Amino acid sequence: MRSRDSYAEPYRIKMIEPIRQKDRQAREKLIKEAYYNLFNLKAEDVYIDLLTDSGTSAMSANQWSGMMIGDESYAGCDNFYNLRDAINDIFGYSYVVPTHQGRAAENILMSMFVDEKQDVIGNMHFDTTEGHIRLRKANPVNLVINEGLDPELDHPFKGNINLESLEKTLQDNGPERAPLIIMTVTCNSNGGQPVSMENMREVSVLAKKYKRPLIIDAARYAENCYFIKHRESGYADKSIRDIAREMFSYADGCTMSSKKDALVNIGGFLAFKDNEDWYEDAVQIQICYEGFRTYGGLAGRDLEALARGLYEGTEEDYLEDRIGQVYYLGGKLTEADVPIIKPVGGHGVFVDAARFLPHLPQTKLPAQALAVELYREAGIRSIELGTSTFGYTNPETGEEVYPPQELVRLAIPRRAYTDRHMDMVAKAFEGIAERKSNINGLKIIYQAKILRHFTARYEML
Ligand SMILES: *Cc1c(COP(=O)(O)O)cnc(C)c1O
Repeated sequence: MRSRDSYAEPYRIKMIEPIRQKDRQAREKLIKEAYYNLFNLKAEDVYIDLLTDSGTSAMSANQWSGMMIGDESYAGCDNFYNLRDAINDIFGYSYVVPTHQGRAAENILMSMFVDEKQDVIGNMHFDTTEGHIRLRKANPVNLVINEGLDPELDHPFKGNINLESLEKTLQDNGPERAPLIIMTVTCNSNGGQPVSMENMREVSVLAKKYKRPLIIDAARYAENCYFIKHRESGYADKSIRDIAREMFSYADGCTMSSKKDALVNIGGFLAFKDNEDWYEDAVQIQICYEGFRTYGGLAGRDLEALARGLYEGTEEDYLEDRIGQVYYLGGKLTEADVPIIKPVGGHGVFVDAARFLPHLPQTKLPAQALAVELYREAGIRSIELGTSTFGYTNPETGEEVYPPQELVRLAIPRRAYTDRHMDMVAKAFEGIAERKSNINGLKIIYQAKILRHFTARYEML
């Protein structure tokens, strides 16, 4: 990775969106009125919004001009063919099924392949993927390597799947019980950690041996390719596009949430390398849930922005700057003695709230407390990935079940903020660090039965 001070952003700013920091008194009032749940805040009350990198990218002049030539014909619009050609070119896949988001592509895929009581094996499924597997009454099986679950261990490819466990699972349960193998690149659920080319190649050998379809969840494939280029031997001189082409050649198809590495605000797709029968099956479901085969729930202009964004997402200087910025924030926080998950992933920095606020036990929701404090301190919005999100109340015993980690994720939108915004984030942590032993915990006073973190209400202890 190039040193961050040897280059500047590979773009200049044509249009700006004003943001304002409310004063501390206003922030105190707003967060209290939001029941200490950051999802309840209005965006205009947030100064720097690091809630998610999904759909929050700034589009380029090239993408915006593409939107002006959106062809809104119901069938056969030009922009569909541009998208199909882009996917053909970058991924090497012939059949393209546009959808309104990544999860819609997952819905089509799972409806086609997955039946009750089957096991869908992956390195680590994203939560909507897991949701679709469970909706079909099947089981998500996560076989990420052990190193991938150790927050303090520095390992270049923490998104890799454990190949021995994969083969053993296929043999022990019989391959027919596994309708799909899904590799998520980068692996979102353990912090945006990459999968190596070698691992992908080996998975494809096993998938072929046991005749199982291998699908890539490609939301952050370009960031994954960047890590391969910089960390895996033999790839330093290859282009991101060549690396992507090789990676996708090992799989039979992919789903993509275009709201990540395709630099658009909405959209997704399902694509297959060469299986026309799968494609025709997919279109049947697409027509019922999304729309006709050439638009799939998107406007022509969205298809065009997506086709152009896919190319921009693979540009080397863009990726260098993008990942460089995530590492810049990671470095600043490390300098300030804020404990973070290492190595830093592709799309954000994960702060270990349990280590940062050791006086708060899990019962007092340390990660939520830190996320609230970050808003109070500077109007910065992050997301809790700890007890609120992954813990639950056991419906039979009424006991709380706690997750292994208490994390606060600072997800960085693409091309939207500058390093000076990152400096403000680091400064906020420095301010919090000075008085962190006085930070109080929280308790949940209202929760929904599933996905409680979106709507939960809290009270300060
Ligand atoms: C965001 C995401 C999805 C779901 O995509 P949406 O566009 O939000 O529906 C699936 N997989 C991964 C890895 C993701 O990050």
